[in-house]
Amino acid sequence: MSAHVPLFVLALCVHSLCSAFAQERPIEDPAFASPRNIILFVADGCGESTHRALELWQGSPPIYQGPEWSRYNTTTFALRTSIRPSRNLDPLEQDPRLVYDPAKAWDTTPTDRAHGEYPFYFQGYNWLRATASDSANTASAIFTGVPTYRGAINLDGAGNPVRSLAEAASDRGLAVGVVTSVPFNHATPACAAGAHVPKRELYHQIARQMFTSGVCDVIAGAGHPKFDRNGFPREEPKYTYISEEDWSALRTGTLTDADGSRWTLATETETIRSLATGEVQLPLFLLAPVAQTLQQTRTPWALRDATPPGGHPFIENMPTLRDMTLAALNGLDDDPDGFFLVVEGGAIDWAMHDNQIGRMIEEMADFVRTIEAICEILDAGDRGFDWSNTLVVVAADHDHLLLGPESDTMPFQPLTDNGPGVLPGYRWHANTHSNQPVPMFVRGNSSSVFADIPTTPDTHTAPDGTVFERLPYFHQQEIGKTLLNLFDQHAESEPKEP
Ligand SMILES: [Zn+2]
Repeated sequence: MSAHVPLFVLALCVHSLCSAFAQERPIEDPAFASPRNIILFVADGCGESTHRALELWQGSPPIYQGPEWSRYNTTTFALRTSIRPSRNLDPLEQDPRLVYDPAKAWDTTPTDRAHGEYPFYFQGYNWLRATASDSANTASAIFTGVPTYRGAINLDGAGNPVRSLAEAASDRGLAVGVVTSVPFNHATPACAAGAHVPKRELYHQIARQMFTSGVCDVIAGAGHPKFDRNGFPREEPKYTYISEEDWSALRTGTLTDADGSRWTLATETETIRSLATGEVQLPLFLLAPVAQTLQQTRTPWALRDATPPGGHPFIENMPTLRDMTLAALNGLDDDPDGFFLVVEGGAIDWAMHDNQIGRMIEEMADFVRTIEAICEILDAGDRGFDWSNTLVVVAADHDHLLLGPESDTMPFQPLTDNGPGVLPGYRWHANTHSNQPVPMFVRGNSSSVFADIPTTPDTHTAPDGTVFERLPYFHQQEIGKTLLNLFDQHAESEPKEP
């Protein structure tokens, strides 16, 4: 590294690199050649700074930055920026302008231009914003291994359905569950649940597919038609996320899965919490009594709100992401073939869009508490599964451009530390996504397979000699490809008749 690297760049490099370079390949139990269970956490809209904000607020790194975990970086760019399939193009033809390029990303050439209320300051910030993905194409890549256009739910660039992880898991006999802190059929959970539609806004169609395809055993999230964003009953129901017809079938217990099983509906917080133990009837739909997000959209709500975490009272008696995940896990973990559980910290992205630093940290904290709860269960190993037969992946779908307080003059300055319990120094550079690579963490059975994925260095030397460097990266589609391979091995490693 160059001798005249400013301190903040060094800090960025050290923070980004040391955890991975200190890793050794995890020791795995040879009795389990592939994982029986896979738990995939997805932090929506969560880049390096998002993880760092929680760490600075709490005064300690989140659990997945511990020594048992391996860290990678993934790029998140879309196949194309169009929001509809291109039937005349090769389904895998990549728009070269979107491909992550360290020289363009780290470009420190000053610029006076702006988009909306957010000046670019540097050409790199401009490029990272202009080439960003959306949560549908990123989730499709993660859950199918195939990159696609913005807005696609598990379709390729030409609009053809692509087999997803949930379908592969279900085909292998695994129980499948999807949990989120945003509407249950928003882009990420829709992809996680194996839906296939050309446009992410087709909520009624997505919901119908999620309930009737026979793929999912548990679905959990927000988006209740009869409650507002503060969890108060609405005068008139609002059927944004589910059709009136499907809602009334759920209410009367007549909505059935592909094999004729009736969906059980749980919408009361106490009921949802009680499902963390005891007998659970599948298929199960946990619908939190709130319109959009568990907590992030509660009032008082304002754009660019700098109120610290917990500074506004939480909605009382609302299930957390952790509550819903523990109930979902209890429903899945009796399956003798294993389970595939996806948990999305969806409202992290909503808080990032709204430039609400405190609510973003609240959402990260709930997400991390959920991971901690799962780790405790895996550590204890008294429910028939542990780290030797379970793989845990903590991924993110894309970044937002959140940087340090002087990042208008100091390119790529990281967040600054003001001590635990005090908001870090920060500056928002957009109210939407960026093309920066995002961290990913893995632990457990077969976690070493990610070390075999080829990577590209993410380094750039500015004209003044400043060296910018992050971990080498692979594209997030490799997550999907790798997990699909593991599901296929799962089938091959099934006990055979002698
Ligand atoms: Zn977003």
